Amino acid sequence: MDTPAAGKLVIISGPSGAGKSTVLERALKECQLPLELSVSATTRQPRPGEADGVSYYFIAKDEFIERKEAGEFLEWKEVFGRGDYYGTLRKAVTAGLNAGKWVVLEIDVEGAMMVLESHPNAITIFIHPGSPEELERRLRDRGTEAEETIQRRLEVARSEMKVGSKYNHQVVNDTIDRAVQEICDILSRGE
Ligand code: 5GP
Repeated sequence: MDTPAAGKLVIISGPSGAGKSTVLERALKECQLPLELSVSATTRQPRPGEADGVSYYFIAKDEFIERKEAGEFLEWKEVFGRGDYYGTLRKAVTAGLNAGKWVVLEIDVEGAMMVLESHPNAITIFIHPGSPEELERRLRDRGTEAEETIQRRLEVARSEMKVGSKYNHQVVNDTIDRAVQEICDILSRGE
């Protein structure tokens, strides 16, 4: 287990299209806590509007694999069977925690389970969309994904929803304001 650090680790997961990013963005600004979002590395292509170093560090697959083998990732995963990798950089997390930050990881369920092995006291929050129909509608409204990708994401989402019960807290994103408030309340309680 890692040495206890000054900050806290917060893990947030939820199916794609649960509105997770919007809720999280608001929570980072509005919760009265020193929250810091950990920027993951990925080999997938940036979507329109995504900036390198802000949404993700967009890196080539060769570089990802090299850094993974060098042990630079606290956790990593190949998502959706597309051959794209995602991972949390160990160094940034440790630096944030040592500086007393509450480091927030927005990662998938498998990654979360991997992080819990080394950080069992992490606060875990699973964000659910209002309903499966709502989830599908949001994915389609985004208009950036092919049908095959949507189907794959829905399949992943259904299985992710089942594992949501492994998290300390479940938040339903029925309305953004309410979900943000609930997340701030959970974090203020610090567990
Ligand atoms: P997207 O491609 O839509 O940005 O993200 C797809 C999925 O990858 C989401 O479920 C997101 O939580 C997950 N993800 C993003 N970064 C990481 C990471 O560093 N590690 C893991 N395990 N999953 C991640």
